[in-house]
Amino acid sequence: MEFKYYMPVKIFFGEKCIEKNGSGFSMPGKKAFIVTGKSSAEKNGSLNDVKKTLNSINIPFVHYNRIEPNPSVEDVRAASVFMKESGADFIIGIGGGSPLDAAKAIAILAVNDIDDDTLFGGIYRNRPLPVIAIPTTAGTGSEVTPYSILAFKKISNKKSVGCDAIFPYAAFLDPLYTATLSAATTINTAVDALSHAIEGYLSARGTEVIKPYAMESIRIIGRCIPELKNSAIRNEVRENLLYASMLAGIVIAHTGTTVLHAMGYPLTYHRDIDHGRANGLLMYHYLKFIEPSTEKVKHIVDAAGMKNTDEFGETIDRLLGEKETISESEITGFTRTAMTSKNIAYTSPRPGEKDIRRIYEDSFRR
Ligand code: NAP
Ligand code: FE
Repeated sequence: MEFKYYMPVKIFFGEKCIEKNGSGFSMPGKKAFIVTGKSSAEKNGSLNDVKKTLNSINIPFVHYNRIEPNPSVEDVRAASVFMKESGADFIIGIGGGSPLDAAKAIAILAVNDIDDDTLFGGIYRNRPLPVIAIPTTAGTGSEVTPYSILAFKKISNKKSVGCDAIFPYAAFLDPLYTATLSAATTINTAVDALSHAIEGYLSARGTEVIKPYAMESIRIIGRCIPELKNSAIRNEVRENLLYASMLAGIVIAHTGTTVLHAMGYPLTYHRDIDHGRANGLLMYHYLKFIEPSTEKVKHIVDAAGMKNTDEFGETIDRLLGEKETISESEITGFTRTAMTSKNIAYTSPRPGEKDIRRIYEDSFRR
């Protein structure tokens, strides 16, 4: 057996975890730059909890609330200018994957005057500033990963910055913050977490040590699925989803993702399909592509509590509702784009252009 395991994030999990731990917690700096999306952090109480804690320990802060979903390189550059002017020396990202990923990129750009290719290169002269991550969606696991996914105009796609130095310094996971999520975002983010666990388990970079995390995450999400379409989701289910998404984040922190994410990115970039939904739309035919070469797909389906891959696929499709229409020429373009991703090499068996095209075609066949 051979593996590398690295998880440097201090994780606090549970209801009111900021209130319970925040004031006794040694902050990694003297002034905080709080990064959020437009409004959700105010509505779900997370922003207020952070401000209260910072006030109680006399840490000044500034708040930047202009991160939109799927942040771009331009967005994080603009934010990093504010960060530098603010005199803050650490960042608190609050929100879904978008503000958390933005926080990590800002942490790099605030102390490194670099061009875009160097930003994506992952090697920086100055160590990125520390980031505290507070997720308010249960999906990306960004609070425990060394990745920041940014929309990159130059390649007309999403691209990942990956570097151990952007692992958050700490993460506070309070499931109560996710109670305000819409039904659609709850579903889409849960499917993102599921895809992380599945892809990590199937990845050519998978190791023994992350398998139990992946399996447990799939088991938990599988048990939550019947409740995901309910108008009111119980707190216990919210808690389980946030836990499963964190476990899946630990998985991809080690394995990265595979062709499924590589195929989902163009759907998000060009068609504005939510990230988790994009993965979900392709998930069944991705599994069907892998199934003939490994028993592992059966393990996944069993763990999710389904009889077979077809039942699994039908369940995910039902959850996501009516599919978008994607044209043949879009499929050609998306296939080419997906082929350029390094994640293809982590997929086992490695898909060729024809395979990727077929997964798109079968997934959007009417
Ligand atoms: P998101 O883009 O962060 O947020 C989607 C929407 O949900 C926003 O409108 C946001 O509103 C709202 N929202 C967030 N928390 C809420 C809450 N508690 N209640 C109500 N509304 C809430 O969604 P996401 O799916 O979590 O993140 C997607 C991004 O993460 C993508 O860019 C994806 O590529 C990336 N990602 C990163 C990793 C990683 O390892 N770093 C892994 C997977 C995906 P506001 O704008 O008002 O906040
Ligand atoms: Fe993802």
